[in-house]
Amino acid sequence: MIANKNSLEFAREKDQKDPLKAYRDRFFMPQVNGEDAIYFTGNSLGLQPKSVKDYLQEELDAWKEYGVEGHFEAKKPWFAYHEFLTEKIAKIVGAKTEEVVVTHSLTTNLHLLMVSFYRPTGNRYKILCEKKAFPSDQYALESQARYHGYDPTDAIVEVGPREGEHLIRHEDILAKIAELGDSLCMVMIGGVNYYSGQLFDMAEITKAGHAVGATVGFDLAHATGNVKLHLNEWGVDFAAWCSYKYLNSSPGGVSGLFVHEKHVTNKELPRFAGWWGHDKESRFLMEPGFNPIPTAESWQLSNAPVLGMAAHLASLDIFDEVGMDQLIEKRIELTNYLEEIINDISERKGHLCQFEIITPANPENRGAQLSILAHGKGKSMFDSLTQKGVIADWREPNVIRIAPVPLYNSFEDIYRFGQCLEQAIEE
Ligand SMILES: *Cc1c(COP(=O)(O)O)cnc(C)c1O
Repeated sequence: MIANKNSLEFAREKDQKDPLKAYRDRFFMPQVNGEDAIYFTGNSLGLQPKSVKDYLQEELDAWKEYGVEGHFEAKKPWFAYHEFLTEKIAKIVGAKTEEVVVTHSLTTNLHLLMVSFYRPTGNRYKILCEKKAFPSDQYALESQARYHGYDPTDAIVEVGPREGEHLIRHEDILAKIAELGDSLCMVMIGGVNYYSGQLFDMAEITKAGHAVGATVGFDLAHATGNVKLHLNEWGVDFAAWCSYKYLNSSPGGVSGLFVHEKHVTNKELPRFAGWWGHDKESRFLMEPGFNPIPTAESWQLSNAPVLGMAAHLASLDIFDEVGMDQLIEKRIELTNYLEEIINDISERKGHLCQFEIITPANPENRGAQLSILAHGKGKSMFDSLTQKGVIADWREPNVIRIAPVPLYNSFEDIYRFGQCLEQAIEE
């Protein structure tokens, strides 16, 4: 790297030119030692937009003023509250409005979607997923296999990195799909792997899965609000994501799900039903006989948790203002800068610590996160970083996950992080 790139002047100049620089001030930055933290865990819990309070207050006031009548009298009537989010989230995931709904929590939605899209019969019962999938996804898949009477160790096939490698080769995923052929019932992969930060080619995986007659779904917890998604165009059957990571919509915040338009009007598709998935016109007639709404809304079970959704709406309004294209442009620059700083330190201080970035080097194959192996250093180095005000994520035995988020992180954050890292390895 150019020597002067690892300098405060360079970082500040980049921030000056950043068209999104004003957005940092729209979020609350956690404080450490009386200063702004260097917050790189937006991939775990996004920061609080300052506007959230007003969105919540509006609903608290409506509740206070109207009680149950708020379902119809509130400025944003609660009976249809989720509808205020649909168009905005549809844009973020590249879907039509009838293909998405904001509802429930992520793991719940994965189960509800698998009720519809994991339909094993005869020889076709295998599930393909990535090795080291997020634990909740592993448990969900195992329990789905068991629920249908299969032994998970037989039903679930994992594709992992080759011996001595950290990433999963795309051709290995495609080869495994082809090899499983008509025994493959469903592909369910994390769009961006939470551990390595690897972004998978969802368009090609979908095509390959369909070519052998399987359904294809993605867990987009680490992808939504982070990378460009075209779920409709790619022909993905189903997907779900949470809103509290890159989408900054409050701890444990409400999730979203996608069902492709080719499925949403199919009333025969099995699904677990609740009153909020029932035809809106006749819902309050309270009559027997489930009549699914011909949109993704029919996967909703319950009426909307309005307070959580209000926080989500506050954040989606910011995304709507900025747009994914601008965010992605900045994200690529930030991540590249972080990569350069880490490599620079590794070059100059390699005798103390070698950093190996396991996340793909090509911006096409990653999002905001870099996962860094710290060779020769352990948890004490990470603890020292924490003391210096860096909020990042440590995974045993020695992986640091860092996610500079384009909405609120700056180039100066990255420069300061580099300084802390250099001090920490020298201690
Ligand atoms: C964060 C995350 C989850 C968390 O699931 P919840 O149901 O929201 O607790 C699940 N899967 C993946 C891949 C995640 O990254």
